[in-house]
Amino acid sequence: MQIALVGIGKIALDQHVPSIAASPDWELAATVSRRGSVEGVEAFTDFDEMLAARPEVRVVSLCMPPVPRFDYAARAIRASRHVMLEKPPGATLSECHALIAMAEAQRVSLYASWHSRAADKVQAAKDWLAGKTLRKFTVTWKEDVRRWHPGQDWIWEPGGMGVFDPGINALSIVTEILAEPIHVTRAVLEVPENRQAPIAAQMAFHHPTAEVTMEFDWRQQGDQTWSIEAETDQGSLALHDGGARMLVDGVETGAETSAALSGEYPRLYARMSDLVRAGQSDTDLSPMRHVADAFTLGRRVTVAPFTE
Ligand code: NAP
Repeated sequence: MQIALVGIGKIALDQHVPSIAASPDWELAATVSRRGSVEGVEAFTDFDEMLAARPEVRVVSLCMPPVPRFDYAARAIRASRHVMLEKPPGATLSECHALIAMAEAQRVSLYASWHSRAADKVQAAKDWLAGKTLRKFTVTWKEDVRRWHPGQDWIWEPGGMGVFDPGINALSIVTEILAEPIHVTRAVLEVPENRQAPIAAQMAFHHPTAEVTMEFDWRQQGDQTWSIEAETDQGSLALHDGGARMLVDGVETGAETSAALSGEYPRLYARMSDLVRAGQSDTDLSPMRHVADAFTLGRRVTVAPFTE
């Protein structure tokens, strides 16, 4: 199937382009970008022009930040194209629900992708937790914003989500592996005095049997931490490196492979291919719901200004 990539920035070049190139299902047929391009692929600067000029391209993958994405997704759906959304699927829950309704009405596939859910050990962690009673569940997502998001001013603006941009990846894993629903009961959002979005957040969640807490922080230097730890009535589980490694009772499970995270985007594109062929959509918004709840319920604390 022919696909167009829209928003040729960091994630498009790091992950989408190589995953499409390596897939037997997809051919990168066009790009739309104000500045970027991919060698050997027809490049457009205007989205409507691409939609009109290339009617045989039935699928578009939107790789720009969340705030501008709704407008592109809505135009693509109106033009009867199937749409794959980078995470988070939108800037607000309401615009995501609007896209779901539009896609249903136009009978096109809509995929709200969550790349961290496709990390190597996420399914194994879900299987291990099934049937066990959870006692304690701790998420620690701490990284250096200067290292991972250099020059990305949009991430600090309203709708950019701040530290929840990586934090929602943790939530996408949590909402996949926990059998029971959770909801935010307490949140503290630390917002730099010169920015609109939090640089750190601490949260507690309601769960029927367990104490569930999460800590996201963008001020981590040195070692980076993307970990989920669970204590149950039958032992403990730890997911490290964003779902690439899994330990049960402290013992590593499976072989550690350097490719453990590089499988994420190929899996997303395989899923998109299945959805288009089956005429289905996949639009789980639960990670985004928890972020919205944290912003609604969270106590804001002003912290030191952030400069790059
Ligand atoms: P980015 O490099 O800052 O931006 C991606 C592209 O979006 C830009 O090259 C730009 O395309 C387009 N864009 C930016 N503002 C726009 C606007 N107002 N209107 C239209 N297009 C606009 O961001 P990114 O890191 O790739 O992140 C994009 C999305 O991917 C985010 O939702 C992020 O959460 C997600 N993501 C990022 C990473 C990562 O490691 N960076 C990992 C996973 C997921 P042109 O200038 O080419 O038009």
